[in-house]
Amino acid sequence: PQLEEARRALEAPLFADVGGDMEVSFEFFPPKTEKMDAQLWDAIRTLEPLGPRFVSVTYGAGGSTRERTHATVARIQRETSLAAAAHLTCVEATREEIDQVAEDYWAAGVRHIVALRGDPPTLGAKFASHPGGYANAADLVAGLAKRHPFEISVAAYPECHPESVDTVGDIDNLKRKLDAGATRAITQFFFSPEAFFRFRDAVAAAGITAEIVPGILPVSNVAQTRKFAGLCGAAIPDWMDRLFEGLDDHPAARQLVAATIAAEMCRRLYAGGVKSFHFYTLNRAELAFAICHMLGVRAKPQAVVAAA
Ligand code: FAD
Repeated sequence: PQLEEARRALEAPLFADVGGDMEVSFEFFPPKTEKMDAQLWDAIRTLEPLGPRFVSVTYGAGGSTRERTHATVARIQRETSLAAAAHLTCVEATREEIDQVAEDYWAAGVRHIVALRGDPPTLGAKFASHPGGYANAADLVAGLAKRHPFEISVAAYPECHPESVDTVGDIDNLKRKLDAGATRAITQFFFSPEAFFRFRDAVAAAGITAEIVPGILPVSNVAQTRKFAGLCGAAIPDWMDRLFEGLDDHPAARQLVAATIAAEMCRRLYAGGVKSFHFYTLNRAELAFAICHMLGVRAKPQAVVAAA
């Protein structure tokens, strides 16, 4: 029977089982310079025809990108066919200030907020909420939901948030955010589909029915990824180091390896029933575009994009 199974596996063409019946979303960060702005818009225009259900723009630590995030989100909303989502954090701001940011988004036609607590501006410092501010992400979700019927997404951690005591506490916190008015969770990046599946099971066992969308980070620079992975509760497996060994001077090969790893991970997640993927693009379209292509996510006819 084992031989039979192996033969069947070999006969199935690679990626034949992914049918394009999935939804994707893309995350960008607000550009700092004109050159970065051009790169971002190149990425947006490349990915737009794939018809993502939304694209989101991050909010810098301590609200450092407040204006730039707003400008980017508002421009996407105004000038493209895409639904833009704005990340928003509680750090270093009063409730009134954050509420005003949310009001400005609503006025600009933005209907989707990714609500986060955020991290302290000093690396490694302990988080302390602003005396007049929102205490955490659940508190922020409640505040936003009171103001307008925003669609609200929140963060989830398949390998546990670094400050949480255990998975149970982490999932309790996720439940509080969803109960406060969020509709979906987007996960921190991870490189173990098994960790995601274990987390999904634990979330379901806790009675949570909201969708948990895996956050996919296509890694082409493992050293850089390692720098911030530790801070956000994501493990970099040894095999990933081995795959990138000796490729420092081969950027094109690194891109191919990156696409292969991420596509294979998405394929496994898909085989386990996952139908939505959120890509951390780092403002570069090619990797996400190639992975989506392999997964069967193709450009939608122009008319469909325009009507969406
Ligand atoms: P929370 O959900 O508030 O949780 C933070 C920690 O506190 C957890 O350990 C939780 O278990 C614990 N906790 C919360 N409430 C309680 C309670 N009542 N009792 C006990 N424990 C509690 N950061 C940015 O600065 N800008 C961004 O744009 C950004 N985008 C992100 C997007 C995604 C998809 C993800 C996954 C993360 C993003 N982050 C961003 C990072 C995020 O801000 C950090 O991970 C931050 O440390 C936690 O944010 P949170 O919203 O998960 O916090």
